[in-house]
Amino acid sequence: DAITVADLAQKLALKGGDVVKALFKMGVMATITQSIDHDTAVLVTEELGHTAVRETANDAESELLAHVEDVQGEQSQRPPVVTIMGHVDHGKTSLLDYIRRTRIATGEAGGITQHIGAYHVETPKGVISFLDTPGHAAFTSMRARGAKITDIVVLVVAADDGVMPQTVEAIQHARSAKVPLIVAINKIDKSEADPSRVKNELLTHEVVSEEFGGDTQMVELSAKTGLGVDDLLDAISLQAEVLELKAVAEGRASGTVIESSLDKGRGPVATVLVQQGQLNKGDFLVCGVEYGRVRALFDETGSQVQSAGPSIPVQVLGLSGVPDAGDDFVVVDDERLAKEVAQQREAKRRELRLVQAAGNRMEDIMAQMGGGQQLELPLVIKADVQGSVEALRQALTALSNDEIRVNIIRSGVGGITESDANAAATSKATIIGFNVRADASARKVVETCGLDLRYFSIIYDVIDQVKQVASGILGVEI
Ligand code: GDP
Repeated sequence: DAITVADLAQKLALKGGDVVKALFKMGVMATITQSIDHDTAVLVTEELGHTAVRETANDAESELLAHVEDVQGEQSQRPPVVTIMGHVDHGKTSLLDYIRRTRIATGEAGGITQHIGAYHVETPKGVISFLDTPGHAAFTSMRARGAKITDIVVLVVAADDGVMPQTVEAIQHARSAKVPLIVAINKIDKSEADPSRVKNELLTHEVVSEEFGGDTQMVELSAKTGLGVDDLLDAISLQAEVLELKAVAEGRASGTVIESSLDKGRGPVATVLVQQGQLNKGDFLVCGVEYGRVRALFDETGSQVQSAGPSIPVQVLGLSGVPDAGDDFVVVDDERLAKEVAQQREAKRRELRLVQAAGNRMEDIMAQMGGGQQLELPLVIKADVQGSVEALRQALTALSNDEIRVNIIRSGVGGITESDANAAATSKATIIGFNVRADASARKVVETCGLDLRYFSIIYDVIDQVKQVASGILGVEI
């Protein structure tokens, strides 16, 4: 009987922010993504000068939800899904390639494995799936969109280089996503390799190896020679056992899009990770704002398969368009429902884009007022030189007081990148560019997520504006 504020706004042909404001005047704190009950919806509708008519027709989206909830079979063990992270050049790609090359029996497509965004391997201790896009951008952009697909992060640290900035960043990502880490100390074939130095450096970031009494498995290996890679696979299986990963293996499938593209010959192609149920050739599905019937399924060797179960990545052909990475997919009984949901979502998405920019700030403030806590002003800071980064960090952090906390969730030297923007989107942070600009992909994220991006070249201006944001919008003097 509940309806989200965004949905109500859409039905009333109003901006989401206007409905939020009207609710606020009535003393109801709700954000655009939150649901309000039927009576409140009627009240606010009348407050806004409309007449409320109760909808009896079953909403296609709730019919879809029933499809997902309907899948109730026996839960069984499922393979872990692993993401490899680490500092640039520490060997993420080499490790993924080594495992792929030595562990996947190549199929009919001429004996070459394909890059489809993910792959799964068989080991004596069970199946393991790997997301095939190393680096942090994929992980953060999926998280920014609310998708939770990684069960375990393998953190690659080169034994001849030690803990570096992106190593620390990966630790933070894994922690905030509450995903356990396994450390792969790589390049031990090199004479300069010093694994114990790596372990000691990790200690200072509270990543403690089992031999030091901690709970993080650490494996020494070489992605070049393959030494120790089997130990890593064993460590992953062990961690997976501890996590007791389960899913319903039968019934209608649902899951997440890992990667997608438009292929000249084959049309829209999406690699999806099945998370529940079994995806079959011939199934109807909704996938983000796209829909279709599965015309063919391919595995990572380019071979056609008839179906795929939990934690298994497959390429899907037959969608109406190219979905976004991070979109969910759900199998439905018939094409009518698939099409209806996809169309409703498309309409909703257009509306949401419009209200998001206006709603974002308001939404945060209200959520915090409702919580009665210290208000938080999250910031992402990028600058041209390290000295400016430090100066800004210190000056802005010093603005915190009892009522407001300036929280710098990310900072660094260089232009504003897509991963900076994604990090900002996750925490709805304001992005500050000091003598640097956002690149095209970052600007795209800023635009679609309605983020606040500001450029500066004088430190005093930054402080001044942050103060203004705090006092003007949050109503707090600092
Ligand atoms: P990524 O940036 O983390 O994906 O790192 P890459 O996999 O591209 O590796 C960076 C460089 O390190 C490449 O020249 C690799 O050949 C080399 N490399 C990776 N793993 C090893 C290893 O175990 N031993 C040695 N000697 N070199 C390695």
